[in-house]
Amino acid sequence: MQLKDIKESIANKRFICPKCKQPIQKFEKFAETIDAVRDGFNIQDIDSNATRVTLICANGDCKWQERTEYPMEFLLD
Ligand SMILES: [Zn+2]
Repeated sequence: MQLKDIKESIANKRFICPKCKQPIQKFEKFAETIDAVRDGFNIQDIDSNATRVTLICANGDCKWQERTEYPMEFLLD
């Protein structure tokens, strides 16, 4: 998922905490995977497709959080 999709999904409450089943409130970005294919001095292709984030539930007393490269696992269907 790209960062903007993650942001939108948080805003639309589409990430669900597996522990308390409430919408996940926050995330923190911790890395972005960028795959660059270089040919001589020219970068032919830059593909940034995976954003690693920490999803943070932050509902009431729930302390659930998870660092993941695959946040779509927590998306509502
Ligand atoms: Zn929770």
